[in-house]
Amino acid sequence: MSYDYLIVGAGYAGAVLAERLASQRGARCLVIDRRDHIGGNSHDHYDAAGVLLHTYGPHYFRTNSDRIREYLSQFTEWHAVEYKILSWTNGRYWQFPINLNTFEQIIGRPSTSEEMEATLAEWRVPIAEPKNSEEVIISQVGTKLYEMFFKNYTRKQWRRDPQELDASVCGRIPVRINRDDRYLSEKFQALPKEGYTAMFRRILAHPNIEVRLKTDYREARQQISYRHLIYTGPIDEYFDHCYGPLPYRSLRFEPETLQQEYFQPAMQVNYPNDHDFTRIVELKHATGQKLPVTTIVREYPEDFGPGREPYYPIPAPDARALYQRYADRAAAEKGVSFVGRLATYRYYNMDQVVGMALAEFDRLASLPSS
Ligand code: FAD
Ligand code: UDP
Repeated sequence: MSYDYLIVGAGYAGAVLAERLASQRGARCLVIDRRDHIGGNSHDHYDAAGVLLHTYGPHYFRTNSDRIREYLSQFTEWHAVEYKILSWTNGRYWQFPINLNTFEQIIGRPSTSEEMEATLAEWRVPIAEPKNSEEVIISQVGTKLYEMFFKNYTRKQWRRDPQELDASVCGRIPVRINRDDRYLSEKFQALPKEGYTAMFRRILAHPNIEVRLKTDYREARQQISYRHLIYTGPIDEYFDHCYGPLPYRSLRFEPETLQQEYFQPAMQVNYPNDHDFTRIVELKHATGQKLPVTTIVREYPEDFGPGREPYYPIPAPDARALYQRYADRAAAEKGVSFVGRLATYRYYNMDQVVGMALAEFDRLASLPSS
């Protein structure tokens, strides 16, 4: 059997490209994944207690792009959610991300946006162009709030000092002087109504798409005949780590089912300064599932190594320089598209990966041979 496209990875990058190529170009696509399920890191499942969990950590879908929302809406209905989280430090819960409610908690009395802005103006460390994750926060809220909420969480999560990480890492967390206490700012925030896995099943349901699970590209590649390869796995692995391994951050998820309706007051509680885990996620708050029991998941950052997943590329100058060497080699590779979070070594959200896949489809569709 010969295919037009061999697609390595059944996450957003691979699934969206398979769907577009199959449905719009009539291409025959084989999607392989070494895991035993589709959906990549966005996969979800029901646990033994019947609670819907995001298998690889909380996945809060959000986007500002109408094109991306409309594209995915062909495969799912949505359950609107305003993602709300809290931060636990100094023995109590704090509103997070920092907003006017947090400011009132800090000063211990009611306040206004004007007073918050004037106070932050005093607390801020003046830095015209923040170059790293410490500078981006202290230039917005000063060192006291940075130390309360960001410094140790970031060290725990990345095992690097925030000064060594790009400004975009902590800079993706909003700071607001109004009462908007949503974790994210994008205009569309929702979860697929029946979950991510059900959505992926529909994306991949086209008759021109064949999916083979528990199939590793490194073992299967000799036996499969294809015209073009779409690779969404780690780029350093594709090139046999020829320039040395890229750094990644891994995680360990520890679920616990409790015989009570809810465990904590919000969908997610962050622990910047206590415990070895960074956060406890209780997804039931977001999915709206009605059950007498609940499952919480504690998330422990871990070093990447054998038997562990490369969950996060590290957004830092040294890692980017090494990635660039691989990217240069990838650019010279004929008949291969490198797409997605691991193949382009970018700390991308789901919608950004969908956008990247749609753009790659447009590019492939414009080629004379396609
Ligand atoms: P992946 O989903 O990683 O899929 C790649 C697939 O390729 C994997 O299934 C892998 O098994 C397979 N593969 C790799 N190598 C091989 C090989 N050699 N052979 C066969 N198969 C292979 N995004 C959001 O928008 N909101 C969030 O709240 C959010 N939270 C996140 C929380 C965590 C803990 C993590 C890790 C990520 C989060 N993301 C979130 C990001 C989101 O997971 C990614 O943007 C998205 O999954 C990337 O899709 P992808 O297809 O590029 O890669
Ligand atoms: N962060 C922090 N304190 C928090 C939440 C986030 O310092 O309470 C920093 C941390 O470096 C984290 C980054 O901001 O890695 C991005 O946070 P986000 O919740 O978006 O991370 P993700 O869900 O991608 O792990």
